[in-house]
Amino acid sequence: MKEILALLVRLQLLDDKIRNQRRRLESIPGELNEREAAFAAKEASAEQIEAERKARLIRVNDLENEVSSNEERIAKLEDQLLRTRDAGSIRIGQHEIEGLRDKVSTDQEEALGLLEEIDTLEQQRDVARADVETQRAELAHFRLVVDSDEKELGQVLAAFQVERDELLKPLSGKPSLVYQRIGDARSGKSVVPLRGGACVGCGMGLNPNDQLKVKAAKALFQCRSCSRILVEQELWSAAVPAE
Ligand SMILES: [Zn+2]
Repeated sequence: MKEILALLVRLQLLDDKIRNQRRRLESIPGELNEREAAFAAKEASAEQIEAERKARLIRVNDLENEVSSNEERIAKLEDQLLRTRDAGSIRIGQHEIEGLRDKVSTDQEEALGLLEEIDTLEQQRDVARADVETQRAELAHFRLVVDSDEKELGQVLAAFQVERDELLKPLSGKPSLVYQRIGDARSGKSVVPLRGGACVGCGMGLNPNDQLKVKAAKALFQCRSCSRILVEQELWSAAVPAE
């Protein structure tokens, strides 16, 4: 039975490794998705800046057309004024010219303001686009790393599985069933050592008779409180090289 208990301890260690390996493998797609989403957001924000710049350019163009058509109208009116002597017509013409000049100057001011904004947006767009290119390269590199990580983790996992199948061979029957059942209920901790006369799993102290049973290891001994399989510290330490 001691050998079987030692095998159970090793099986539990291996199952820990397998779980960790699976967790790492499962976390990879999420991490990649996050990075891809962050990249898409950066790309969209760079293009948003460009869209704002273009909208301002269109507005500047409209303003410039407006200004030149108003200037033409002013020149035409001034020409007419030179040729008329009617005081009423002159007043009306001058009034219209004044209004048009105000409009021209307001439009020009707006266009100047927009041109400054366009300059700033152009710089922001270039910075954002350069950042996007850096991120694009980093993302491509990350994808390569992820691919090779996935392969490597998968290979290690497959090797662990082979090792597990080997370990399970001499454990068929009750030991592996008990191990499995308790593991499901106790998040993978089916086997624990007896330390200082108490179960390491739940802390309950064992009476001297039960302690002797664990030490003798003639049969599977399960903690009366948490049902975990108990092994003596020496056997545990021998099977767990790192501890
Ligand atoms: Zn216990």
